[in-house]
Amino acid sequence: MNETQPVWRTRPGVELGETFEALSSALDQGFCLVEILFDEDGKANDFRYLGVNPLFERFTGLRPEDALSDRTVRDLVPGLETFWFETYGRILATGEPSAFEQRSEVMGRHFEVRAFRVGAHGSRQIGILFKDVTQARSEEAQRQRLAADLEYERQRLLSIFEQASAFIATLRGEDFTFEHANPAYMQLVGHREILGKSLHDALPELRERGFHKLMRQVAETGVPFSGQAVSVQLHRLPGAEPEERIVDFVYEPLREADGTISGILAHGIDVTDRHRAERLLQEQEERKEFLLSLYDELRSLADPVQVMVAASSALGRHLGVSRVGYGEIDPVGKTISVARDFTDGSVASLAGESRPLDSFGPAIIAELYAGRTLKLDDIAVDSRSAPYAAGYASIGVKSLVVVPIIKDGELRAALYLHAPEPRPWSARDQALAEEVAERTWAAIDAARSQAALRESEAQLRLLTDALPVLISYVDRDLRYQFVNHAYTEWFGAERGAVVGRHLRDVLGSVAFQELQPHIETVLGGETVRFETVVHYNRVGERVIDATYIPRCGPGDDGVLGFYVLVADITEREGTRRELARRAEQLRLALQAAGAGAWDWNVETGTVFWSPEYYAVYGISPEVEATVENWIASIDERDRERAMNEVQQGLENASLVDFEIRIQHPWRGSRWLRVVGRTELGESGRPVRMTGIVYDVTDRREAQQELERRVRERTRELEVSNQELEGFTYNIAHDLRAPLRAITATSRILMDEAADRLSTEDRVLLERQAFNAKKLAQLIEDLLAFARLSRTELRRVRIDVSDLASAAASSVLAGYGGRTWKVFVEAGLEAHGDPATLRLVFENLIDNAAKYSPDGGAIAVGRRSLETGDAFFVSDQGIGIDMEFAKRIFRPFERLHRDAAFPGTGIGLANVQRIIERHGGRVWVESTSGQGSTFLFTLS
Ligand code: ADP
Repeated sequence: MNETQPVWRTRPGVELGETFEALSSALDQGFCLVEILFDEDGKANDFRYLGVNPLFERFTGLRPEDALSDRTVRDLVPGLETFWFETYGRILATGEPSAFEQRSEVMGRHFEVRAFRVGAHGSRQIGILFKDVTQARSEEAQRQRLAADLEYERQRLLSIFEQASAFIATLRGEDFTFEHANPAYMQLVGHREILGKSLHDALPELRERGFHKLMRQVAETGVPFSGQAVSVQLHRLPGAEPEERIVDFVYEPLREADGTISGILAHGIDVTDRHRAERLLQEQEERKEFLLSLYDELRSLADPVQVMVAASSALGRHLGVSRVGYGEIDPVGKTISVARDFTDGSVASLAGESRPLDSFGPAIIAELYAGRTLKLDDIAVDSRSAPYAAGYASIGVKSLVVVPIIKDGELRAALYLHAPEPRPWSARDQALAEEVAERTWAAIDAARSQAALRESEAQLRLLTDALPVLISYVDRDLRYQFVNHAYTEWFGAERGAVVGRHLRDVLGSVAFQELQPHIETVLGGETVRFETVVHYNRVGERVIDATYIPRCGPGDDGVLGFYVLVADITEREGTRRELARRAEQLRLALQAAGAGAWDWNVETGTVFWSPEYYAVYGISPEVEATVENWIASIDERDRERAMNEVQQGLENASLVDFEIRIQHPWRGSRWLRVVGRTELGESGRPVRMTGIVYDVTDRREAQQELERRVRERTRELEVSNQELEGFTYNIAHDLRAPLRAITATSRILMDEAADRLSTEDRVLLERQAFNAKKLAQLIEDLLAFARLSRTELRRVRIDVSDLASAAASSVLAGYGGRTWKVFVEAGLEAHGDPATLRLVFENLIDNAAKYSPDGGAIAVGRRSLETGDAFFVSDQGIGIDMEFAKRIFRPFERLHRDAAFPGTGIGLANVQRIIERHGGRVWVESTSGQGSTFLFTLS
């Protein structure tokens, strides 16, 4: 067999003859001979190929050697549809050939089949002619699907075209004749006969509006045109005014198959409603914004005129109105007055003008009184205003809106919008004007009442600030709402720092607790008045006289707060108590002193005597207190003097203080001391004399006794002193002779028995001589001291500077070898006894030299004292311990040892005696180690 030659092939053992083989090999279809296989029930359920022609493989995809092997179709093509077995089984059974098209999904092929029984009834063989038409079938199916899709699209578009809210129309030809128009388009143009008509004829109102030109442009250029939110005026209803519609639209070129442009597709959407809604929304927004900002502005204004100006100009600007004003109506005079208004400059202002309401015509006034907004688009045309047009024209108005403001049934004000030309006012203009009018009224009202409130508050404050009483108002939460000046002053705070604060914080918790019972009472609705001591926070303890007055709300609101009136009576109370205390003290003192009080009103002659007064005078309580009765009670001897004293006291407004004698009924003759004080009236004349009287008899007697004793004692003392001094003088004097004998004896012994004496004896003898000499000095000193009290002082003017200088030179000369710097102040003078004063200076200068180192300064001078001048002698020596400053003036008192500073201790005693005899005083000022200053005065 030739491999390249497609041939009929059969299963071994199958022979069909040459003709058959040649025929089947030449077929342009697949051909196969199959043997049908049956199951046990006699149902065809498989087959096997007996022979296949050359195209078999191409159309089935099965290789002939597989097809013709032992395997059956079920094996070769697993899952082959039962359709095939059933169809072939039927052909075998009926013997009727069958032609059909069937797709085998398992094989993925579409077959065109012709099948016929080969052989007579009972044969199991079937010849099958078939073609694989898979590809042809799928193209066809696609074509059909496409056609269906197209149809669907067409239908859909059609329905869109018909039902779309979008309007669609096609226009053809030179003059754009309407060919189609969907219902939306018809609705847009008002359901007119437009099909078959040119654009111009169909919609004449669009002529000269540029649409025709636009279409032409699209037709010529092929470039679509789209318009957004285009306003079109359309005659949608016959005879009616054109109506504005707003459309978004597109003009597109319509092309023929050859690409030429034959017409225009006009489609678009009527967005009028959306636009209107949007515009409305925007307007509402603007209006809302305008009103809000206006409210804000008006709220902040406190002056009614400012409110008018702000409202008028805001409204005028917002609506673009030439003149806006707010006039107030005087209900009595029936005039309207405009304080200020707004104009855009095109008309004159009406500010400051007043005009009678009548001048606007009764119809218009009636509208206003009825509370209806008046809207006159054209005054000259409107029947209500036409007769008065001239009047309106005089104020430059041809169109207006007036909003009346009616309050409590009265026409109170009006807001007007004026236009110099007729103007169709919109409902929006009117609504806004009404709103602004109402708001302006409210703002003016608020401003006025606030001003009134401020005014009355200012007056109240003025009044309360002027009062010296603490005034406040506290709300029921116990927070200050009002305080006057005195209140804040009292707490040393700013007014602002008190208002709004809680009582406790301002008063302090102690005071708050103290006052709480009263606070509770007043919050209970009762007025309370009390005097109490309160311990305030910053003010401290105060006595107050307070009144709390509740403020009750209307109806059942209870107490809203309370007024506090406080007077600080601490001073008053303190003074009252102090006075009472003093009076009591005085009473006690008088009582203790057995003193009586008296009071004489010089002007009225009224006299008061205290009970003690009666006791002191021994007058019966029945006796009337009069000046005459007083005079009568005085001892005759003192009467005149007493009256003189009183008279003088009155005349000189001076203290009276004198003693009188009385005859006391049971105590006998008594001395009384009368002390009193004169009080002068406003005229400067004496109006009153007040005083006390007490018994001084005992004191006087005691004093007399004392004086007598002192005199006696002094006399005794003087005598004994003289005796003592005489004795001292005598002793000293008598000691002199024996001492002189001792001195002489020892000198003789020294002179004549010197060589017989041992050295020891001589030393003893020298010591004896020395002591005798010292004793002699002591005796001299004593004698001098004693003499000082006897010698008479001879007082003359003395040049103290001279005296001191002379004393210094004589004293210091005795210190041979030592030197001091001596300063004596020039021009010192005194009145005294020169001899003894020289002694004073000699003693003081001698001490100064003795107790100072070499080269030290010694000064003599004068110091001014409050009581007069004092002389002093000062040095820079060893000084004195001030503890002993008094002692050194006593005779023989020494603070230093003999060895270092020789002396007898009598010098300062002498000084003191001399100074005392001059009626002066001597003392020392010193600091140990830093020198001493001795000072003395002369009387
Ligand atoms: P005397 O002969 O001892 O100086 P006075 O009576 O003059 O006696 O002085 C008494 C004492 O006072 C002295 O012993 C001395 O201690 C003290 N005194 C007096 N003058 C001075 C002085 N200028 N400086 C220090 N001490 C003094």
